[in-house]
Amino acid sequence: MFCPRCGSDDEELIEGVCKSCFIKKAKIIGMDDDLKITICAHCNSILNGIKWEDSELSDEELVSFTVMENLHAMEQVEDLEISVDILTVRGSNYECLVHAEGKLLGTLVVEEYKVNVKIVKNVCPDCSKFASGYFESVIQIRADNRFPTHEELQIVDEIVRTKLGNLSLKNRMAYVSDVAMLKEGVDYYIGSYKAAKKLQKQLRTV
Ligand SMILES: [Zn+2]
Ligand SMILES: [Zn+2]
Repeated sequence: MFCPRCGSDDEELIEGVCKSCFIKKAKIIGMDDDLKITICAHCNSILNGIKWEDSELSDEELVSFTVMENLHAMEQVEDLEISVDILTVRGSNYECLVHAEGKLLGTLVVEEYKVNVKIVKNVCPDCSKFASGYFESVIQIRADNRFPTHEELQIVDEIVRTKLGNLSLKNRMAYVSDVAMLKEGVDYYIGSYKAAKKLQKQLRTV
């Protein structure tokens, strides 16, 4: 059999061409060279399809992660190693260099690609609820037949901030949407019903 590309006849054909032509034309990895990530400007969560997911990644880590997620490797490649370097950052555009090397039919193949990743900032539904003053629960701080003292209110406020700060690591809705000073006491408007329950439990110890 002759290779239709180079005319050599000493090797068996792979996908219609000889081994060296096959390796020459092969791409060991493939990907889109333009990627877009949507993240929430307030809480950093990431839009994955139609779902918002929490993320602890920095923008740079997120860019590398997204590039890795979006590339696919050729099946026949062995010992594939891929690295992603961010070359330049212009505003929300990250220009990346993807370096891939692996063995194709025993031959080392090295490829480099440039990929542009754009981070689009948006607001997730939870944060937009927060922005619009949404709340699920009201915690009323009261004393018997008098207004709570300044010290009492300070202790309560400290607990509210600390507890919600901790809860908000796992629950974006654990926020104070509003604080109302009334003549009988103070009302805290809490974004999450669940968080308010936990907070109330702790406040009972005061
Ligand atoms: Zn050939
Ligand atoms: Zn958010």
